[in-house]
Amino acid sequence: MTDAPTLLILYAGGTVGMVDTSHGLAPGKDFAARLDLALAGLPPARRLALPDFNVIELPDPIDSSAATPRDWQRLAKEITRRNREYAGIVVLHGTDTLAWSASSLAYQLQGIDRPVVVTGAMQPLEAQGSDALNNIEMALRFAILPALQEVTIAFAGKLMRAVRSRKRHTQSPDAFFSPNYPLLGEWVNHDAVFYADRSLTTQQRGAPRFELPDYNALADGGIARLVLWPGISARQVTYWLEDDLVRGALLEVWGGGNLPDDPALLGVLARASGEGKLLAAISQCPQGGIAPGHYAAGRALAETGVLSGDDMTPEAALTKITHLLAQPLSEAQRQQRFLSSLVGER
Ligand code: ASP
Repeated sequence: MTDAPTLLILYAGGTVGMVDTSHGLAPGKDFAARLDLALAGLPPARRLALPDFNVIELPDPIDSSAATPRDWQRLAKEITRRNREYAGIVVLHGTDTLAWSASSLAYQLQGIDRPVVVTGAMQPLEAQGSDALNNIEMALRFAILPALQEVTIAFAGKLMRAVRSRKRHTQSPDAFFSPNYPLLGEWVNHDAVFYADRSLTTQQRGAPRFELPDYNALADGGIARLVLWPGISARQVTYWLEDDLVRGALLEVWGGGNLPDDPALLGVLARASGEGKLLAAISQCPQGGIAPGHYAAGRALAETGVLSGDDMTPEAALTKITHLLAQPLSEAQRQQRFLSSLVGER
């Protein structure tokens, strides 16, 4: 028995722990034992540099393509329940919706005072040439740093703020990027190099508190995501936004914040926001923010009551809308919080 701090690894599913089945890859069993076996193959110096950890497998590990806001909530609850027993938490998750779950965790775990590092892999742990072990080793080494007090993603040598990250490649191990914010750390020669001046610890972190609202009412289509295309019609937008179950939507508009100069379309947006739906816009360009009003074509956006999402990722913006709508806030409070930075997302 040592007094060394211990980490928690939560296995939620994803390729990292998958095995071949007759239907294709699916989450496998006994992840803890399989991980021990894989780690035993590391060179001794790297094995010794790893912190102690316990592994907990969630009862039904999933392919993350099936995740819903209920799964985000389940993960956050699990971490909240156990975080005080551990120096840091590593979440193993499928890569397809990893950036969504990790972004949602960042809002739910606001003010967390220890590392939460989310990772996964493009290849299963036991596959030849797999990236799994490298990503897990890196995640463990960052998750032991007490100065890292936020939710991050560790992948292919890069440590990124969760609410700034996106999946960008379907096959390459270097599958994630942080389009509008620099890396929080890097894995250099098997060492964790942390850029503390970029982290939330040295920036605003808000009051230390968790927010774990009930996402149930929003989990089955309570929020919509609308990406503009040339020729989009007001009729189509109406289908989405007039649905009574839809309480908020993210619009992905052109360039620096422009949308078609179509009074009918603008009317649908104005009506929905006038009814109290939380509508926000970001750009569909992968990099840069929006500044509605720079062009005449963008000025109309602000007049419809659609809020600017600045340079947020779609993952960070949509999970933030979900989070704000799940709480008992007034419309003005929701808008004010959407427009401010809660966890470094904008
Ligand atoms: N479909 C898998 C998942 O997201 C892909 C992966 O983990 O890379 O669970």
